[in-house]
Amino acid sequence: GVKVGVLALQGDVAEHIAAFREALIDRPGSTVGPVRHAEDLADLDALAIPGGESTTISRLIEKNGLYEPLVGFEGGIFATCAGMVLAADRVDDPRVRTLALIPMHVARNAFGRQVDSRETLLDVAGLAEPFRAVFIRAPVATEVGPGAEVLARIPEGIAAVRCGRHMAFAFHPELGEDLRLHRTFLEGLGI
Ligand code: GLN
Repeated sequence: GVKVGVLALQGDVAEHIAAFREALIDRPGSTVGPVRHAEDLADLDALAIPGGESTTISRLIEKNGLYEPLVGFEGGIFATCAGMVLAADRVDDPRVRTLALIPMHVARNAFGRQVDSRETLLDVAGLAEPFRAVFIRAPVATEVGPGAEVLARIPEGIAAVRCGRHMAFAFHPELGEDLRLHRTFLEGLGI
């Protein structure tokens, strides 16, 4: 089985847990559960960092003593929206202390105030059919560093990135029924 944790400090934690449980339904012995403290990271194959409010999640990471344990986490990272901000190595907001798990620069709230949310059919490298991507006050990556691969772009910037076992999305694959990106991620763990 595969052991997946979801960083459960703030944000759409329940949706991530439900989506990974569904994606792992045919893998007996798999577990999906919340991560609030460093000891919850032990033995995990993968960690989802959810959407939410990256400044709040960053503050709670410090408060719960999770910063160093997350930086040292050796499993795969599945980061969405606010999670993408946290996984980056640089962000345009000093209130967020990024985890530098993926070499990319991220801009928060990249859509501006007028149209801050959008749903679009997105071409994602590796998927045969477009993905219905839900963007909610989304960030974008503005550039990626060595080892990181751009999987999807929107006019505002980079919307999906893969880096080894890690994947980051400006949108929310955990919302809705389409689990192709979860499956791609789980395949990439090689277990
Ligand atoms: N704008 C939020 C942030 O930067 C992210 C929004 C989301 O996760 N849906 O923290």
